[in-house]
Amino acid sequence: MAEYSSKEDMMALIQKLRHYEYCYYVLDQPEVSDSTYDGLYQTLLAIEAAHPDWVQPDSPSQRVGGAVAEGFETVVHQVPLLSLANAFSEEDLYTFDSQVRRSLGKDRVAYSVEYKIDGLSMALTYRDGLLVMGATRGNGQIGEVVTDNIKTIKSVPLRLNEPVGQLVVRGEVYLPKKDFLALNDKRQAADLPLFANARNAAAGSVRQLDPKVAAARPLALRFYDILASSASFSSQAEVLAAIRSWGLRPVEAYHCEGIEAVCQAVQKITADRDQIPYDIDGIVVKVDNLADRSALSVRAKTPRWAIAYKFPAEQQETRITAITTQV
Ligand code: NAD
Repeated sequence: MAEYSSKEDMMALIQKLRHYEYCYYVLDQPEVSDSTYDGLYQTLLAIEAAHPDWVQPDSPSQRVGGAVAEGFETVVHQVPLLSLANAFSEEDLYTFDSQVRRSLGKDRVAYSVEYKIDGLSMALTYRDGLLVMGATRGNGQIGEVVTDNIKTIKSVPLRLNEPVGQLVVRGEVYLPKKDFLALNDKRQAADLPLFANARNAAAGSVRQLDPKVAAARPLALRFYDILASSASFSSQAEVLAAIRSWGLRPVEAYHCEGIEAVCQAVQKITADRDQIPYDIDGIVVKVDNLADRSALSVRAKTPRWAIAYKFPAEQQETRITAITTQV
């Protein structure tokens, strides 16, 4: 952090992060790897923690996601689509668990441990069982309406198995690994620029003004949260079961009693990662009990009841190199 010892240095770091965010969120063309971005972002958090009076209201630490791209109709999300705080080690997970237990006054907490799909976050609205809107997370408050593109995704039902009055579900749109490689092969043959990774290919495909382009890309969607519903639930396990029963695909999840079981699941998922047919960039650990979540509440841009464990940088860099050499 020594090289960022003045406020001017911090402002330069913010400019750099903003530029990388624009390339990633708006253009879907990252200039640096996620781990490089994450390293710079953690540096910014450390500077802001050391100098709270330097924190800018529009700092990347104060806002979710990126700007809304031009050309799309926009929507104000009924419930903001937040981001997640990050963990980079088992030690960070233990710290998260002890903060949760201390706040709740509990000796042991049950968690839902889920694949963190590396895609684009979406909110889908169903009214009386019918899909009426698909919107991107955008800046968390305002999203881009991409309903026609979402309707081209074969695994997304246009009508739910059971009608639920008003339902807003959150999920991640992604491109399976084999489809991403095939898409880049086709683009190479047609002399078109290649996508840097499956995440950017998926984000670029769903944020298309022409639904025919999205229809030609084999996108998939998995769901992990209910943002609004006329039904009520008491746990994440119930939420995922309801998502399945409506005919939507839930994210893969392990129910873990206590942090030791969480760390075992994290080790297993990390070991299985290459066999998963789509990219995951980490593992999300969420408090299972929804009443406990309400008690823990949310910060400006992240909930206190969940954390995203990110895979170590070397592993991620290796994966990026491997994909780049294959295309
Ligand atoms: P995040 O990726 O750290 O975590 C939140 C996101 O995880 C959610 O928005 C959701 O989309 C996703 N997610 C996937 N599976 C989930 C599940 N089971 N439960 C809950 N959420 C799930 O935060 P972010 O705000 O989306 O993005 C920040 C990250 O984006 C950075 O940490 C970095 O890795 C990447 N980024 C990279 C660049 C770059 O230039 N390479 C620039 C900006 C951001």
